[in-house]
Amino acid sequence: MKMGQIPACGDIYLRVCLQHRRFIGQTRVAVSLLFLSSEYLTHLHLKCRMEPFKVRILGCGSALPTLQHFPSSQVVELREKLFMIDCGEGTQIQLRRLRIHFSKIIAVFISHLHGDHCFGLPGMLSTFGMTGRTAPLHIYAPAAFGPLLCQTLEFFCQGLGFEVVFHAVDTTRNKIVYEDRSLTVETIPLQHRIECCGYLFREKPTLPHIRRDMIDFYHIPISQINNIKAGADWITPDGNVVPNERLTTPAAPPRSYAYCSDTRYIKSLYKLVKGVDTLYHESTYTSEDAKRARLYWHSTSRQAAQVARDAAVGKLLLGHYSARYGNEEKLLEEAREIFPNTYLSQEGKIFDISAAR
Ligand SMILES: [Zn+2]
Ligand SMILES: [Zn+2]
Repeated sequence: MKMGQIPACGDIYLRVCLQHRRFIGQTRVAVSLLFLSSEYLTHLHLKCRMEPFKVRILGCGSALPTLQHFPSSQVVELREKLFMIDCGEGTQIQLRRLRIHFSKIIAVFISHLHGDHCFGLPGMLSTFGMTGRTAPLHIYAPAAFGPLLCQTLEFFCQGLGFEVVFHAVDTTRNKIVYEDRSLTVETIPLQHRIECCGYLFREKPTLPHIRRDMIDFYHIPISQINNIKAGADWITPDGNVVPNERLTTPAAPPRSYAYCSDTRYIKSLYKLVKGVDTLYHESTYTSEDAKRARLYWHSTSRQAAQVARDAAVGKLLLGHYSARYGNEEKLLEEAREIFPNTYLSQEGKIFDISAAR
């Protein structure tokens, strides 16, 4: 690569250039690119092509109201599409506070029909109507929610300017319930006092990236780019084969996020969330209150950590804290004894799904 040449992965290289610019009057001279190793460039390349995949915590408390927490709700973002999981009371206030655009939410996934996971939905639907939403909103929830949703819409949301599309999910099966070009969402059967499931967001694998410098070097026509992305080698006019690996850099591995809502500890749950980058698992109680956890079909933070450890996930997020604790340090401490890469959900926090393990 020649000095000053801008390679394929424009923006990040430009950022690198910016860090090494020297200003001579109005003339900018890019230096130092030659000293970057090819591994580092590949790393930058992957990073700059990686779309944001993150989860924002809107609420992480449990059923009883407290001054510290809102009830359960999260927003998952991938490629500028927003998906809400659970919608406890106050969710629309949290959307405002966190400056999340109402109109960007395309679907809501409800784990179960306890109020701390769905009481926020009627108010939010009504507000979406008042703010002039026109795009359809898809709601995924246990079948029993269907008639209730109909009544709510008829009673409170007459003349709504957008369509609400209800999808009944079978909480007893692990099944893909949503799919688009970039991801799938599948149900995770859980065990709670009523029917309940979690949701697993899996990014779809993407094609490898073209190395612009190699395409230029071999004078490969644009018409061949899609074939090369799909894995084809290039044969030069004099018959030499240029292997595909020289023409492309690998795509970043697909990322995944599992949300395990209210559940008692399930020993085999790790199989369904094996290797996910980030796992949220409810952790209502400390080990001291393990009996209470069993009684109410909830989990302790140690049990959440056992699932994370057995599934070899990247990191664990705790949440759904009981109102009986003044803070969550003990929950965190106990979980970290079993699975060190554990973090506390807190309202307003944003977690990168693919952050370092
Ligand atoms: Zn709950
Ligand atoms: Zn519940």
